[in-house]
Amino acid sequence: MLFKVDWGSCISQSLQVLLKYKLVVLIQPAIPHKLARPLKILLHIIIFVFLTVVTQIGGILYLIAVLSIKRTAKKRRLKKLGIFTGLYLITTFLIVPNIAPIFGREKIKETEFLKAHSFFYRLANRNYVRPELNKSLVQIATEYEKRNSGIKMIYLDANFPFINGFPLLPHLSHNDGKKIDVSLIYEDPNGKLTNKKPSISGYGIFEKPTAIEYDQNADCKQRGNWQYDFPKYLTLGTTNKEIEFSEKGTRELANLILRQNSIGKLFIEPHLKKRLNLTTGKVRFHGCQAVRHDDHIHFQLK
Ligand SMILES: [Zn+2]
Repeated sequence: MLFKVDWGSCISQSLQVLLKYKLVVLIQPAIPHKLARPLKILLHIIIFVFLTVVTQIGGILYLIAVLSIKRTAKKRRLKKLGIFTGLYLITTFLIVPNIAPIFGREKIKETEFLKAHSFFYRLANRNYVRPELNKSLVQIATEYEKRNSGIKMIYLDANFPFINGFPLLPHLSHNDGKKIDVSLIYEDPNGKLTNKKPSISGYGIFEKPTAIEYDQNADCKQRGNWQYDFPKYLTLGTTNKEIEFSEKGTRELANLILRQNSIGKLFIEPHLKKRLNLTTGKVRFHGCQAVRHDDHIHFQLK
């Protein structure tokens, strides 16, 4: 069945919801006491869900922070924020990295040439993988740098530290420690490989098909998969406009990934698969129900 989304109304509804909550904070003093409490609880629930979806552990830590301050305490909001921030940073950077291995996952071991695209991925606990994948990542990045001096492998979303089946949204499949996304490789105007990337978030700037290449996006959109190019809303802005997609650099990275015995599948958009001449059976099409993969490469353990 085809269904279409009216983005205009979606955005305007989201804005209305946001305004409403901002309004809740602003008009709180004017709300009768009986009403204020349920609204406050609703706000706590929204913050809890948001932090859980983005960081996995943030929601629980927020609850602890809220419950640890007495209702009669002075400057409650400031104290709550302070406790939450301290608790979150200590848990994220000191506690979780040490207990995640008990549950089968490790923090990605960054090296000089294996780095997160931005601090957000580490701050939000989105940088956990199974030990086998960790080993492969270091091997791929080291080998890549040997061939291309100074060029790093930049990773994006991996997995959360805990619970198989807990998805790292918006990627439903990143839920078992086996998956990771990495950036494509780009070159500067002189044709030299660069570590720069075109998107602030790391997602959403597509290396589109040329006029003679197969346009998977158009095909999926026509089948009613409206979400297929949704990452275009997730760039958080564009940067480094002078750089261009490097066919040679990305092909070499993809081939190093595919050479790893531990890796079972690699997802890249069909026109790039062809353009880069990636012929092994490990390169699959992710399906129209996913999102397009010409802004990053996804790969996973067997
Ligand atoms: Zn992925």
